[in-house]
Amino acid sequence: MKTLCILGSTGSIGTQTLQVVRHFREEFKIASLTCGYNIELLLEQIVVFNPVCVSVATKERKETLQRMLPRDSKVKVFCGDEGNCHCATLPKVDCVVGAMVGMKGLSPIIAAIHAGKDIALANKETLVTAGSIVMPLAKQKNVKILPVDSEHSAIWQCINGQPKGSLKKILLTASGGPFRGFTREQLENVTLEETMNHPTWNMGGKVTIDSASMMNKGLEVLEASWLFDVPVEQIDIVVHPQSIVHSMVELTDGSVLAQLGFPNMMMPIQVALFYPERSLGICRPFSPFDEQTGTLTFEPCNRQVFRLVDAAYHAGKVGGTLPAAMNAANEVVVADYLAGKAAFLDIEKTVYRVMERHERDGVTQNPSLSEIFAVDEWARLITQELRK
Ligand code: MG
Repeated sequence: MKTLCILGSTGSIGTQTLQVVRHFREEFKIASLTCGYNIELLLEQIVVFNPVCVSVATKERKETLQRMLPRDSKVKVFCGDEGNCHCATLPKVDCVVGAMVGMKGLSPIIAAIHAGKDIALANKETLVTAGSIVMPLAKQKNVKILPVDSEHSAIWQCINGQPKGSLKKILLTASGGPFRGFTREQLENVTLEETMNHPTWNMGGKVTIDSASMMNKGLEVLEASWLFDVPVEQIDIVVHPQSIVHSMVELTDGSVLAQLGFPNMMMPIQVALFYPERSLGICRPFSPFDEQTGTLTFEPCNRQVFRLVDAAYHAGKVGGTLPAAMNAANEVVVADYLAGKAAFLDIEKTVYRVMERHERDGVTQNPSLSEIFAVDEWARLITQELRK
């Protein structure tokens, strides 16, 4: 039996992880859960999964949750970054599921690695901003980083067991999002509602916006680069609107391997949680003759229209603190966009401006964790200023 901590248990990946846990009651136990503000759902999860402790975003939420708990509840409630780190480092936890969204997911994951916990990682910002610290630390602590992102799970499954050095190229698939085939002019007038309407995946707000702008794919290029130790130049984006092929790898001898499945995040979650074992499936397996399969198509990514893809490749090539600046700018302007305070193309415009500014000021190479946090904070302030 594996004992889990879920960071971000009320989000899209968090709730689906709990569905997997519920299905395999004999295999997993929940030690701790964390969430931001959705304490109503957290309360339901506490009743069902009986964790030792939980953490919420703020002191106010903590006090409200404590008042809502049943009288005989023994669960300890913490809050903030400290609370998240406490939940992630409990001695009994074997594996931490990193399902928070954004840079705030980084420090509890670092704390968990220090404490020797395996990480099932869905939070891409962790590797985008601090891959240079997270990956060597995981190696040093003999901790596994198990990818939960569907594309990265696919790549990982394809290369698992292949000889070291045999990975030549990653073909990272992308659905293309709701605006596939759009022109720049069309992108100028898209609404928030259209942006939220993803054709194949049902996800949280931030990831859905990132998918529409293709920033999600850019972040995933950097994530793959760290996870599989390949330069971004060896990663190509392939637009595949049906989201059935979850990614492909080309090996040195020219053989190309792919992993297939109907879009369902429970599959990569299950693969990560059971690793190195394979369990019985929860998801309907892919069939070439299924109605849902239809015709599989592939096309290149239009980087002239979706310019954030170029921004991410550039950040990946320059490295250092530039990806952290890019990510922070994106997080701030996407929050503005979700609040109806920005136009769709403002996201790209703002991210480029913040990156240019950071490059002009000087990117720090081989940054420490505190230097990464400092750039993150700086980029958030600058973005807010630019957005005024
Ligand atoms: Mg993905």
